[in-house]
Amino acid sequence: MAIPNMLHSERKPDKLRSLGILALNGMFDEMDAVGVLRQAAREILPGDVAIVSSFGADSAVLLHLVAQVDPSLPVYFLETGKHFPETMAYVETLKKQLGLMNVIAIHPDPADIKRFDPNGELWETDPDSCCHIRKTEPLEPITEQFGGWVTGRKRFQTKERGVLPHFELTSDDRIKVNPLAYFSDADVNQYKIDHGLPEHPLFSMGYKSIGCAPCTSVVAEGEDPRAGRWRGLNKKECGIHFDFNGAIASPMNAAKFTLYKDGAFIADPFHAWEDSDEAASARYKHVPLPVFLANREAFLDNQAPLGLLVSPGDNVETVQGDLSRFSSIAIKFPAFTDGRGYSTARLLAERYGYEGEIRAVGDVLQDQIPLMRRCGVNAFVVTHQPTREALEENRLPEVAIFYQPVGITEVPVGTRPYLRRAH
Ligand code: SF4
Repeated sequence: MAIPNMLHSERKPDKLRSLGILALNGMFDEMDAVGVLRQAAREILPGDVAIVSSFGADSAVLLHLVAQVDPSLPVYFLETGKHFPETMAYVETLKKQLGLMNVIAIHPDPADIKRFDPNGELWETDPDSCCHIRKTEPLEPITEQFGGWVTGRKRFQTKERGVLPHFELTSDDRIKVNPLAYFSDADVNQYKIDHGLPEHPLFSMGYKSIGCAPCTSVVAEGEDPRAGRWRGLNKKECGIHFDFNGAIASPMNAAKFTLYKDGAFIADPFHAWEDSDEAASARYKHVPLPVFLANREAFLDNQAPLGLLVSPGDNVETVQGDLSRFSSIAIKFPAFTDGRGYSTARLLAERYGYEGEIRAVGDVLQDQIPLMRRCGVNAFVVTHQPTREALEENRLPEVAIFYQPVGITEVPVGTRPYLRRAH
């Protein structure tokens, strides 16, 4: 279906404005799900409502309602690029079985993916931002073109959704319609049985709420059906539904990225080691060198990505045979005047031939960065605002004269004056 070109304000029914959202909920509170959707699509927002579906475990119910009311209603599917293959197959199954005529996949902006998630690991380091670029941002220009949209959310799913009404007014003056708000888990299952709806292929394997593959896990008996989403993280929603309480998902904030690498500030997949971390299960942690040595076998058995943290006084020679185990080595520069980190970087890069990420952490200031680079440091954790601005504006001082040359292209001051500048 072509998206209407009219301005949203031109389409907004006056009747709806005058009724108000409270009255709307009062009028249709007792109505069944198909009735709520029919009212929304035909009376309240005719030609001005879209459906957003994840094609997850319960999506068949809402989509079956759509097929009954009007199979040509636009159904938007957020194709994040992170779905299970089974979900992609399920999209086709439901389209065919329900006769949905207008399922439209929406994709994240490739430029956002390239800039913020070049390695596809943002879901692990910053899931809010991952959802933002993969879901919230792509959806915004779509929802802007409709006066309302329909979701499959239900009260029973989470505590946060426990007061979900049939109709919500968003902060940008649009209507969200939740025909299934009052459905219980049992209602959903009964509906699927009554209407012979196909299950998502992963449902029988214990996936009770299904989103992107990296952020979805099996739910145990008795657990909140959405407990398998973003398990272990303090995250319950993807951001596109935050508006219920008037709060909108915060926009992507590149300013919080502190890792500077390959010419840009990027999301940092690594986290600091904590005392509660365990050698066998740690992932994306910079393990302090003494901790690694004390638990070497367990760390070597652990297949997850790991980094090493080298502090002043640590001897990297003790781990030289294990350096390839680490995808990142962080060198601590505790103070501007402490030069031991430079020696460590040179040992790693020149003597041991380490080719992974060597990052500087600690007191990283703009005057040091060119010197660090000369020694093999190729990533910098920068929290000092003027340094950040200098990197963003590409104005770092050059090192033209070398008192302690590195590599073979630098010549010390005073030996061959005509050659003492870098080639
Ligand atoms: S659900 Fe996970 S993978 Fe999908 S967009 Fe959100 S954080 Fe990224």
